Amino acid sequence: MSLLSVRDLSISFGGVKAVDGVSFDVEEGEVFTIVGPNGAGKSTIFNLISRFYQPTGGSIVFDGQDITRMRPDQIAPLGIARTFQNIELFEHSTVLQNLLVGRHSRRRTHWLEDMFFLPRVRREELRHRRRVEEVIDFLDLQPYRDKMIAGLPYGVRKIVEVARGLASQPKLLLLDEPASGLSVEETQDLVFWIQDMNKDMGLTILMVEHDMSLVNQVSDRVLALADGRPLALGTPQEVQSDPRVIEAYLGA
Ligand code: ADP
Ligand code: MG
Repeated sequence: MSLLSVRDLSISFGGVKAVDGVSFDVEEGEVFTIVGPNGAGKSTIFNLISRFYQPTGGSIVFDGQDITRMRPDQIAPLGIARTFQNIELFEHSTVLQNLLVGRHSRRRTHWLEDMFFLPRVRREELRHRRRVEEVIDFLDLQPYRDKMIAGLPYGVRKIVEVARGLASQPKLLLLDEPASGLSVEETQDLVFWIQDMNKDMGLTILMVEHDMSLVNQVSDRVLALADGRPLALGTPQEVQSDPRVIEAYLGA
């Protein structure tokens, strides 16, 4: 069974089919990347999986559960975390505070327990903290731990977004253009982090990315989209040499 199965997924905006019959499976343990020109429907697929958008057709099954009609707030507790193409962090909170917030989706305690601060809650809090500190160490964010987001360089904020996703201990991490706006050096660091998250942490990753050097280095499989429709699916090499993909990119 695949970790994520997307079947015949479709959505229209004002009569325009932004996603038009897209199917793919993400296997546990792989890095699966969606590529395609601007407007191809990549972020829309993420918004459909994280349930911000309601599909007009098709289905999404995650970890054996049909999530097609679930509410957005039901998704994170199942083990799906995402980053946004445009960074969405609390600007006037520190890195640590942003990560502690991200962890809340996995809380298992009830508010009554919180009120009385039972030992179980205390243990849970300590686990959250420990996990967040591990993620901070893992992504080399120690120097920025207590700094306000608003004052941080763009490249660091992008990594904090990834860290926030990781802090919730997801089974599936969705990364929307993690390398956009990063320098060559920062992009290379990101390659290592993605490889470490995937290999060392055993995390399954679904990514949208334009930077083909990053795509080639980390992806097990690639799906190419154009105008909301799938063009090619295979290894990075197979997809890049597919004539339909070359045509869509070059407009030839
Ligand atoms: P990309 O592949 O660049 O991430 P998107 O998924 O953001 O592309 O967009 C695909 C298409 O869907 C575009 O034509 C975009 O304008 C349209 N679209 C996405 N979200 C909305 C929305 N909320 N309302 C109207 N149109 C949308
Ligand atoms: Mg996008």
